[in-house]
Amino acid sequence: MLLRRFDHWAGPALAVLGLGLLLLETRRPLRRRTRPRPERWTRNVLLAAPSLPAMRLTLLPAMVNFAQALAPRRLPLSRLPEPLRTAAEVLVLDYLAYTWHRLLHAPLLWRLHRVHHNDLDMDLTTAWRFHFGEMLASIPYRAALPALLGVRPATVLSYEAVFEACTAFQHSNWRLPLAVEQPLARLLITPRAHGIHHSQVQRETDSNFGVVLSLWDYLHRTLRLNVPQAEVTIGVPAYPDPAAQSVPQLLALPLAPLLPWARPDGSVPTRPLPPTPLTTLAE
Ligand SMILES: [Zn+2]
Repeated sequence: MLLRRFDHWAGPALAVLGLGLLLLETRRPLRRRTRPRPERWTRNVLLAAPSLPAMRLTLLPAMVNFAQALAPRRLPLSRLPEPLRTAAEVLVLDYLAYTWHRLLHAPLLWRLHRVHHNDLDMDLTTAWRFHFGEMLASIPYRAALPALLGVRPATVLSYEAVFEACTAFQHSNWRLPLAVEQPLARLLITPRAHGIHHSQVQRETDSNFGVVLSLWDYLHRTLRLNVPQAEVTIGVPAYPDPAAQSVPQLLALPLAPLLPWARPDGSVPTRPLPPTPLTTLAE
């Protein structure tokens, strides 16, 4: 029932949002493209073909089923009165999304997550470019853990719709006016902030892990907003060759050895620290 309601409301809303972001990133691009759109779009859509069904058919039902199964128990969050409980549930879910993203950058899960990061440009379609294994691997953390803490099924699915909307927004190549994005970045992870997370400079990739709120990056001192987008090279330095990114190669990438954070010639992308404070968004 809850999942049917999710399909009925969130599905079309996310499709409209995606279309809007596609038009906006085409009209007002943030970063210059380095590869032709059809080359990347074909790959990203083909990678999404198993990943989105994996999310809808395994992760989302697992989220609802775990939460429903544990709902009658007395769990940490079930002791809170309303509306404090709903607010706490949302904060817990978003903090779990932040910590899960940090785990994805640790060696074991980086095997899966590098398929997302080695996209050579970043736009809306990068938001769908996940290895289906990453969806399956997230089930214990993103479905079982919230249920064990007492997050209710309706909150899980409502948050998931916001999570998907923010994922689309932060990956889009939409140039928002700086005067709009700077205050917004105090609250949310924005396209410029997430562009820095997809940079080839390791210090910058190790920043801005949030999915919805930027609060967790503030608290963990992983927020970095002061890098100009014109200076960001998107991707992972070890994978610069678009010809080595066929769909079968990307699907098999989790089994390939981990490579050092360096270009194939051994050089390491670096950048001097910008003089502005970390929390000042650069153009
Ligand atoms: Zn990442």
